[in-house]
Amino acid sequence: MNIHEHQAKEILKEFGAPVSNGVVILSIDEISEKIKKLKSKEFVLKAQIHAGGRGKAGGVRLIKNISNLEKEAKEMMGKVLVTHQTGPEGKQVKRLYIEEASDISKEFYLSCLIDRETSKIAFISSTEGGMDIEKVASDTPNKIITNKIDLRNDGLNSEEIEKIISIFKFNEKQKIIASKLIKSLYEIIIKKDASLIEINPLIITKSDELICLDAKMNFDDNAIFRRPEILELRDLNEEDPAEIEASKHDLAYIKLNGSIGCMVNGAGLAMATMDIIKLYGKEPANFLDVGGGATKEKVAAAFKLILSDKNVKGILINIFGGIMRCDILAQGVLDAAKEINLSVPLVVRLAGTNFKEGKEILDKSNLKILSASDLNDAAKKIVEAIK
Ligand code: GDP
Ligand code: MG
Repeated sequence: MNIHEHQAKEILKEFGAPVSNGVVILSIDEISEKIKKLKSKEFVLKAQIHAGGRGKAGGVRLIKNISNLEKEAKEMMGKVLVTHQTGPEGKQVKRLYIEEASDISKEFYLSCLIDRETSKIAFISSTEGGMDIEKVASDTPNKIITNKIDLRNDGLNSEEIEKIISIFKFNEKQKIIASKLIKSLYEIIIKKDASLIEINPLIITKSDELICLDAKMNFDDNAIFRRPEILELRDLNEEDPAEIEASKHDLAYIKLNGSIGCMVNGAGLAMATMDIIKLYGKEPANFLDVGGGATKEKVAAAFKLILSDKNVKGILINIFGGIMRCDILAQGVLDAAKEINLSVPLVVRLAGTNFKEGKEILDKSNLKILSASDLNDAAKKIVEAIK
């Protein structure tokens, strides 16, 4: 799960990390009252969307004169921002963050994430922070250093912290603040089940202060149940409606850009199905794993989800019945097809538990179904059918 920058900064503050004062605005008429809480002469107006790259897309503006604030905010609110992380459709701005502006002397990069490969916590640091970190990573990867730390109850030791921050060449006072920041990030990962915290930029101001100027945080979906205070921060406006629907039914669904909708059980089989569609020259419209032991209601929800995607020109159902029973799958598909008109070709390949019963249910229905003998045959048939 992702949260907004202003929420991430709230958490950083709670754990003792240095952030600027700011206020969040959901509508323009809140500005005049809320701005009284800020003490600076200059402000930064920041679009709150779940995507980075806002600076380059006009989503971060320095306001030198308070009299321009409302006008600029009106321009930004409601605008669709297209950044390198939003995709071409962009994201509409529905909330703004107004912060006391900082006088930047140097921008650094600092992030902290779970490294699954080594089961450690990785800290990534670079002196080349700011808006071009992706370019630094591809052109001069030696300017980015990674330190992997064991997960321990007593936190990091001073040697480990020194390794993470040495690249920044901080003075003694800054080192003390930075060490505290590193400890805070490590603690947030553990105490809030964050999977990624990215501070880009971490800055030194002209008066030598250290501040987290931008913050991105991701949380482990599988641990959200024990972090209700994090779940409260979820902003459904930022999520794809189909993916919200999928999460309600506990379906693993990811929308993709192709034209063949896939309904599969098991992530490995889903990957293989997507691969073979590509092999026959088409693109999958989604990744969808209905999982083992799905009910017919869950299957029906999954089928409706696939059909809600306007790009879907054909559907391939590929089920290997193990815990999942083919007859339940067939009943679910039938139930969903009763509610919505199935106007695209459907290829079904069933194998395993109760495959005969499943096939019988589908054969008896008046759905127009092309049945396939194996995965290869199924992919060939659906690609043929949508030509
Ligand atoms: P992102 O582009 O979505 O990553 O948004 P950031 O919050 O990182 O802001 C982009 C850039 O705006 C930063 O790299 C800074 O250069 C600039 N910026 C952000 N806040 C301030 C500020 O308080 N003062 C100044 N002078 N620049 C800022
Ligand atoms: Mg940034």
